[in-house]
Amino acid sequence: MEPLTTATVPMSSYDPTAVLPGTVIRPGDASYDDARRLWNGMIDRRPALIVRCRDAQEVRAAVVAARARGLPVAVRGGGHNAAGLALCDDGLVIDLSQMRGVTVDPDARTARVEGGATWADVDAATQAHGLAVTGGAISTTGVGGLTLGGGIGWLMRRQGLACDNLVAAELVTADGHAVRASDHENPDLLWGLRGGGGNFGVVTAFTFRLQPLDGVVSGLLVHPLARAKEVLRFYREFTRSAPDTLTVFAGLLTSPEGAPICALIPSWCGPAEEAEAALRPLREFGPPLADLVQPMPYVAQQRLLDDGMAPSGFQVYWRGEFLRALTDETIDALVDAYAAATSPLSVLVIEQMGGAVARVPRDATAFPNRDAAFNLAMVGRWTDPAERDVHVRWVRDVHDAVRPSALGSYVNYLGVEEGADRVRGAYGDATYARLVALKNAWDPENVFRFNQNVAPNWRLA
Ligand SMILES: Cc1cc2nc3c(=O)[nH]c(=O)nc-3n(C[C@H](O)[C@H](O)[C@H](O)COP(=O)(O)OP(=O)(O)OC[C@H]3O[C@@H](n4cnc5c(N)ncnc54)[C@H](O)[C@@H]3O)c2cc1C
Repeated sequence: MEPLTTATVPMSSYDPTAVLPGTVIRPGDASYDDARRLWNGMIDRRPALIVRCRDAQEVRAAVVAARARGLPVAVRGGGHNAAGLALCDDGLVIDLSQMRGVTVDPDARTARVEGGATWADVDAATQAHGLAVTGGAISTTGVGGLTLGGGIGWLMRRQGLACDNLVAAELVTADGHAVRASDHENPDLLWGLRGGGGNFGVVTAFTFRLQPLDGVVSGLLVHPLARAKEVLRFYREFTRSAPDTLTVFAGLLTSPEGAPICALIPSWCGPAEEAEAALRPLREFGPPLADLVQPMPYVAQQRLLDDGMAPSGFQVYWRGEFLRALTDETIDALVDAYAAATSPLSVLVIEQMGGAVARVPRDATAFPNRDAAFNLAMVGRWTDPAERDVHVRWVRDVHDAVRPSALGSYVNYLGVEEGADRVRGAYGDATYARLVALKNAWDPENVFRFNQNVAPNWRLA
């Protein structure tokens, strides 16, 4: 790994005429509209400058140039954040999409991943060595935002969240410093980067711990929505005793043929010879209309839902909530809500938590929701911008219906219009207070505020 030197850029040296680094895209340029397009087609922000940086030095120069010009700064990783946090109006966007290199050290079982990489980049490089780290369930999601907010994925019950596997980070801070965070260097900062979002600077490289993984057994088990209430009750009981090597998500969605369905999506990452017995009850229940479960390479599993569940460009209104349990009332509310969904493109996804995620002490990282049994994503999706209100209302109604089982939110699943209270609530007072202290130390002027923002100088009432 190339060491970064810790260099100081005093405030007095900010040069307002500083030459911008990398490729600079401005309003009116042919590539401007492409460069400001995000996964969520509903987001329409117009930055003053988009700077495509190629390395940490260019990121430092971009931070310095933005501050010299008095411009707000946004950081773009994979551009998947549903609230559109990768962009700001009239500011400077540090676009990391050219920084996607992944270097694997197979002996140390680590991967150094540049700050703009996607999970597809990481999975391809690590699986070439038979290794893997927990990443998002959609391969096009950015490593940056996902890891900094926590990082839920298929391998988490075996090896923890993405952020639990983060062993070091290289960061450009609000003062233009290049610093490292690890257990030995700035360990408090590493704590904050494990769940505290992009609040402390631009992460130019993440180093992850890897574990061996040959392949997985995964795929969809498809049931009709008419049977979803009993399927989800079975799912709740089945997942209660599932081993750490098995993670099962459940989805209420509409098939490509237009039929509303309930899909169970298992992912087995344990020994291949034990998969059949572990998955049998799941595959026999119902029985399902279709059983598409089969052995596959991990990279195939990581792409399995890309097209069906997560194509880019739709109008999206997204909310999330950790659930302490899947009660009968919650199951009934979710199924009834999906039966009345205002758009066939909308989905409700239940993600099984627990296992290694729950064994990390609550104060060991800035990701606080270790006790959740499930995480729920409520995703309203449609094509015509004029229909926004009806679909937003549907998502809000689903959210209201599940509140009795809610434990708190996942910062990475907070949507547009969810403000500071929701961010504070997502962390809880103790974690939030510690994040504020860290923010005061590393970014007291809140230069990095287009994120699930931790407000400097906030005090517990
Ligand atoms: C289709 C889809 C599938 C998803 N699946 C999962 C999933 O399986 N598991 C899960 O946990 N989450 C999932 N998410 C949520 C995801 O974690 C968040 O949307 C996350 O913010 C995406 O990160 P990004 O880098 O792609 O986003 P961006 O929109 O680029 O960035 C999001 C935030 O992170 C900051 N950021 C990004 N990179 C850096 C960096 N290098 N340094 C500093 N700050 C940075 C940005 O400034 C912004 O505040 C999914 C989202 C979508 C849209």
